[in-house]
Amino acid sequence: MIMRFLTRLGIRIKSKPTIAPASTYGVSAAGVSPGALQVIERLQAKNYQAFIVGGAVRDLLLGVKPKDFDVATNATPEEIKPLFRRAFIIGRRFRLVHVLVGAETIEVSTFRAAKDVSDPEADEHGRILSDNVYGKQADDAARRDFTVNALYYDPVGEQIWDYLGSLKDIKARQLRLIGDPETRFREDPVRMLRAVRLSAKLNLTIAAKTRAPIKQLAPLLSNVPPSRLFDETLKLLLSGYALATLSAMRREGLHHGILPLLDIVLEQPMGQRFIELALADTDERVTSGKPVSPSFLFATLLWHEVLQAWEARKQKGERPVPALHAAMDEVIERQGERLAIPKRFVGVMKEVWVLQPRFEQRSGQRPFRLLETERFRAAYDFLWLRCKSGEMPVELADWWLAFQDADAERRADMLKPDEGRATGNTRRRRRPRKNKGAGDAADAAVDAAPQSPAAASE
Ligand code: ATP
Ligand code: MG
Repeated sequence: MIMRFLTRLGIRIKSKPTIAPASTYGVSAAGVSPGALQVIERLQAKNYQAFIVGGAVRDLLLGVKPKDFDVATNATPEEIKPLFRRAFIIGRRFRLVHVLVGAETIEVSTFRAAKDVSDPEADEHGRILSDNVYGKQADDAARRDFTVNALYYDPVGEQIWDYLGSLKDIKARQLRLIGDPETRFREDPVRMLRAVRLSAKLNLTIAAKTRAPIKQLAPLLSNVPPSRLFDETLKLLLSGYALATLSAMRREGLHHGILPLLDIVLEQPMGQRFIELALADTDERVTSGKPVSPSFLFATLLWHEVLQAWEARKQKGERPVPALHAAMDEVIERQGERLAIPKRFVGVMKEVWVLQPRFEQRSGQRPFRLLETERFRAAYDFLWLRCKSGEMPVELADWWLAFQDADAERRADMLKPDEGRATGNTRRRRRPRKNKGAGDAADAAVDAAPQSPAAASE
């Protein structure tokens, strides 16, 4: 077999693939979406090569239902577009085509070549900044990240094309980076996150040589643009295996680059319990097909940092509510240096945080007003996690659950006595500052609620 070397990348690739019948591996066109099948049939009818590629082939081989189907072809975007009624050329860095078939969007990309790290378009750490060159199918295989992600499946001819010994790795359930691991991680540090995410999600072992350089190279994640890190992290959190992935990331030392303070949070038993509960809950929702809110997730990941910053400000004598707002901004800003959470998510996160102290006010009209706020549901779910993790008494979450369901008469009975004469917006400024412990969310009950449950629970 003729071998070619993409020398600097340490990639050894056959110029001719091994072609295996798909049926040998239990894969058939029945597992492919109708849209993808239609796109491939049309391209092949016009004498182009067309395959399912990447994650979908890997998933089919592992017996997992693919999320989406990407197509790779030797046709250029300009050749692809006119073959379909609804097709759009997208992307500036690398142009590809989105073909709309029914409700599906199929991403069709032209075989692409790997760029060399000695190229001027790499940064000083070897990170690739541009890779817009078409290539042969073998080049397209070589530029991919893991061998198991570099297979080509032709659902018409029922064949799997393998340039890199990928099928062997599938069989061994092994995640192996194509080429020299250190070089390939330097080219794109996000591959380290992908290694951990894919291994946790698909129960694959990261090959020893692939895994070896990760700890040392983990700091390179700080060179990745914060918006890209957000996309990758979101993918990770919504994978249905967030808890397992995050634990694996901690093991490999990868979380520093993403959620810099997660370490500190996870070292406190309460912070750890809070995040674990939130992630387990999310994983459960994802696996049972329920929607998950990214804002809610990021709100949970950062909550204990907000709590700490809030507490510190209160200790300095700042008033609870302004202190909470300042603490939120502080944490969001610190976070944004590494991983940029889009503004629309930040808005919702803050709404959920800001409502938290209001759950401690259970007298007069306040509970009714809280019930009517737009974010009540999310804020309540958040409160539930706080109670469940031990930050607040469970009684508080139970009370709110009962209050939501109760009729008017029962609600009136449930209200706590209105303490003092503090009504409306009258603030009590003369509150004596006693030495309270940490995590004192009760202090935020600005409108005077001395018998706050958090205080009682200490
Ligand atoms: P998922 O199932 O989570 O979508 P995936 O492997 O399909 O996993 P995508 O981001 O959809 O992930 O990428 C599609 C394909 O593009 C991959 O299978 C891989 O071949 C290639 N790819 C993605 N990211 C990289 C990367 N950082 N470097 C090299 N190749 C990549
Ligand atoms: Mg994919």
